[in-house]
Amino acid sequence: MFLKIKFLGAAREVGRSCIVLELSDVHKIMLDAGVKLTQTGVVYPLIEVPDIKEMDSVNAIFLSHAHLDHVGSLPYIEHLRVEAPIYATSPTIKLGKILLEDAYKIENHKNKVPYKHADLEKLSKYFQHVRYNKTYEINVGLNKIEYEFVDAGHIQGSASIFLKIKNKNEEKITTLIYTGDINSIDTQLLEKHYFYREDSDIERFKEVDCLILESTYSDKEHENRELIEKKFIETLKLRQKAGPVIVATFGVQRAQELLTLFEKNKLFEKYNIYLDGMAVKTTNTFLSESEFIINADLLRKAFRKVNHIHGFEERRIALKKRGIYITTSGMLSGGPVMSYLKELHDDPNTTILLTGYQCEGTNGRTLLELGYVEVDGRIFRPKCYFEKFDLSGHAGHKDLVKLVEKLKPKKVILNHGDESSILNFEKELLSKDVQVIAPKINEEIEL
Ligand SMILES: [Zn+2]
Ligand SMILES: [Zn+2]
Repeated sequence: MFLKIKFLGAAREVGRSCIVLELSDVHKIMLDAGVKLTQTGVVYPLIEVPDIKEMDSVNAIFLSHAHLDHVGSLPYIEHLRVEAPIYATSPTIKLGKILLEDAYKIENHKNKVPYKHADLEKLSKYFQHVRYNKTYEINVGLNKIEYEFVDAGHIQGSASIFLKIKNKNEEKITTLIYTGDINSIDTQLLEKHYFYREDSDIERFKEVDCLILESTYSDKEHENRELIEKKFIETLKLRQKAGPVIVATFGVQRAQELLTLFEKNKLFEKYNIYLDGMAVKTTNTFLSESEFIINADLLRKAFRKVNHIHGFEERRIALKKRGIYITTSGMLSGGPVMSYLKELHDDPNTTILLTGYQCEGTNGRTLLELGYVEVDGRIFRPKCYFEKFDLSGHAGHKDLVKLVEKLKPKKVILNHGDESSILNFEKELLSKDVQVIAPKINEEIEL
């Protein structure tokens, strides 16, 4: 055994991505440190008592991107005295800090978080900036680790992480790719994942020992993106005639994609459009890191035109305008969208548009599948109009298979997918003679 891989979360589920790689000399590397947001609260990675004691042997943390399901437990990990350098792109660092501050405020208000604000502050001194397509080397114990980040096309600064782990005398070398979340198509602000681009140089990533592959949409194909965007804009215009339209969105990437789409369709000239919640802050970061996006000028124009809402009073006044409200959270699981829900759920002229993946256990999912949401412990069956648009940031089934065929890894490990879809995907890959496993939480895999 040279390398042991253990999933502390996101194994047969979406949320709390956190993977530990245990090297031959007890030193450890961590890939992502996320949380899972559910209606009943925040779920942390499963770190059992013996492992908690060993957390100080984690010597490096690599972050794929700034979504809470990938960075949300960093302060908790810090609280367990990991105190290791955290490698990430600069948008991931900046956006991650905004998300963590926001999550702390929301959570600390409701429940008690298992860490202190000081743990969150302490993170700053551990961040190390990483650029795309550049090879770095670090020592972890007696091992040498080469690493390279490539653009994952999922959100600003998102990365797939390539690791080359060499033991003491470099007698044993193991290569691994952790995809993080990936998108295989161009969007308003991002180019598709590096591996899917025609001009990418992927020779050095082929036949890796292990590919840890996200599987969010492993059981679905996406409709053509342009068509979905067209339908979305048409619905928005039509429903706007009836009453207020609430566009529930993720604060990182989806909100900025929507702003850009609205600018392209010249909506700001015709409608009262508002941006509420964390997306105001994150959009500022997007613009300050504009080399990590395309079409930054369109986003800049949109951000200048959109009305910003800060707090309850401004929201109350804005609601009188019966406009279009872009607000977080995207799965109706917290944030200002909850105020809109409370206020307008009974009004059939109001519209709620969902714009992305809805995790199991969130209001977004129960609304779509069972027709109800839970707000402040009370169940509502909204009478307003609602519809979901698949403006996904994740590769669909066909493209996931394509990636496996292109990279030809010796072993594929599936994570970040609902249990039923991930098990079906495992079966399908097995039938194609791919060595594949969909581990359970805390299951150890040896390489
Ligand atoms: Zn993500
Ligand atoms: Zn994710």
